[in-house]
Amino acid sequence: MPGQPLALPSADELFEDAACGLVLTDLDGRILRVNRIFCHWLGHGCEQLIGQRRVQDLLTMGGRVFHQTHWAPLMQMQGSVAEVKLEVVHRDGHKVPMLFNAVRRRHGDVMFDEIAAMVVHDRQKYEQELLLARKAAEAAQAQLTHADRRKDEFLATLAHELRNPLAPMQNVVRLLKRQALEDAQLVWAREVLDRQLAHLTHLVDDLLEISRITQGKVDLRCQRMDLRDALHVAVEAAQPFIDSAGHALALSLPEVPVMLHADPTRVTQMVLNLLNNAAKYTPQGGRIALTAEVRGGEAVVAVRDSGIGISADQLPGVFEMFSQVASALERADGGLGIGLALVKGLAALHGGRIEARSEGPGLGSEFTLSLPLVVEAEDSVGGQEVMDMAMPEPIPTAPGVLRIAVVDDNEDSADSLAMLLEMQGHELRVANDGLAAVMLLAEFRPHAVLLDIGLPGIDGFEVARRVRAQPWGQAMLLVALTGWGQQQDKDATAQAGFDHHLVKPVNPDDLAPMLERLARQA
Ligand code: ADP
Repeated sequence: MPGQPLALPSADELFEDAACGLVLTDLDGRILRVNRIFCHWLGHGCEQLIGQRRVQDLLTMGGRVFHQTHWAPLMQMQGSVAEVKLEVVHRDGHKVPMLFNAVRRRHGDVMFDEIAAMVVHDRQKYEQELLLARKAAEAAQAQLTHADRRKDEFLATLAHELRNPLAPMQNVVRLLKRQALEDAQLVWAREVLDRQLAHLTHLVDDLLEISRITQGKVDLRCQRMDLRDALHVAVEAAQPFIDSAGHALALSLPEVPVMLHADPTRVTQMVLNLLNNAAKYTPQGGRIALTAEVRGGEAVVAVRDSGIGISADQLPGVFEMFSQVASALERADGGLGIGLALVKGLAALHGGRIEARSEGPGLGSEFTLSLPLVVEAEDSVGGQEVMDMAMPEPIPTAPGVLRIAVVDDNEDSADSLAMLLEMQGHELRVANDGLAAVMLLAEFRPHAVLLDIGLPGIDGFEVARRVRAQPWGQAMLLVALTGWGQQQDKDATAQAGFDHHLVKPVNPDDLAPMLERLARQA
């Protein structure tokens, strides 16, 4: 009511009926003052505790040991402990789980320990529910993954089976082409067959390719190569299509070689895909530009067109498998929406990436393909420059938070280790085989990788070598997790580029110092 002073509770009342247990002790733990609620939780009267008992005397045996080995030293060293869960023994013998916070503070000339405690039944219940929800989500995820794998397998089988009858059909068309046909209708029929068969073959090949990539079955034949050569081959292959649509193609390539460690056929394939799309999604008589340059330790290839463009909401989805923008469908020419997914997969396998930009519908599109430059180990001056430029651009994380990848074909080991590290606040990703690991690391660019050696596909040694061959992989902390701890095993991991060698089962305490050091630098 206006004018009437509020009747606030006194400090004593606040202390006694606080929403948590409050205890004041001397440095030995002896209870000097305790509030009503804490005594009530333990079934004691306050007078039975004050001056009579030490806090540690109220704990279970395990709690007392913890108090001695952790709590007391921490109070001495840092003057506080936070969120410690311990069990306190009720007067009737049952255990009450509690969460404690304590600080050491000076009042006048004397130091005291001030302790706040909460009963954690509710929290436990809540945590259990969280755990159940998480398990349900994981089960749903596992089901989805299974269905997804079945779909990939089905597509792979389908592509394979479709390809078998295509080969003899192509041979027959080739045979027919050798015939000097007189009948104009037959000539026309042969041409239709030829064109449609080529189109069908192209679709089936794309399907087969993407299945191989999603199943990790693509083997790159990487070699030292000049990017410009691959670009010339792609332009040559795309030129007829570009010309037939009446587009003008502008080329701008560096004058000096741009050396990559890559598979030339695949690089050509990626750029050819982008050029064909530019021609396909640009109305007759448009402009297409192909440029290549070296930027930030990477080769950056850009294909720009003056075509139909892509709206902002469709842009993020264009690299997904089978994605087709509705407005582009009439031009899709029977495409399956696989081409860009293929480019994305191949780019990742090379340790690179692809990005799309467009100002919007009608305003053209730009696709940029970035691939790591080769690291010239033998040329220390030039090589060092490349490596300096090629340091991974750190994707910022909160201070002390690391991006960590765990690679292990034993899913339970991988998941549990990842979960443990996630609980320490880090950002975690998991891969279960070698190729998946290479793709994950290229995309995720973790600060640290915990890498099992025995892996399906390519082993951990090869993963480490491939990572170290990339500019962005130089600074990554690579930790080998292996069953073997002999000196020769350690030599082998060191030689493959690992920074540390840990023998399984890994004790997370062994990891802690490495990660702490890394977090300080990150
Ligand atoms: P497809 O061309 O077979 O449909 P892609 O994976 O190559 O499959 O492309 C996926 C979709 O992305 C296309 O259907 C189209 O909507 C859009 N797209 C690709 N390239 C361009 C481009 N240069 N301009 C506008 N849209 C494009």
